[in-house]
Amino acid sequence: MQRGPRKMFDVRHLGLTCADCGAPIEELPFMPKTDRPVYCQKCARNHRRQNPRFLR
Ligand SMILES: [Zn+2]
Repeated sequence: MQRGPRKMFDVRHLGLTCADCGAPIEELPFMPKTDRPVYCQKCARNHRRQNPRFLR
């Protein structure tokens, strides 16, 4: 895999909001699953620390 800017998925059309702070989410580094909460980048960082399964 190449390094550099990570590919981001534009999810604005999904109208997602962060499950923690409610901030609108415009893009994600992965395609969101509808049955899972999504977080903004700031909150995702916190959750990643708590949940090692988010580490890739
Ligand atoms: Zn958030």
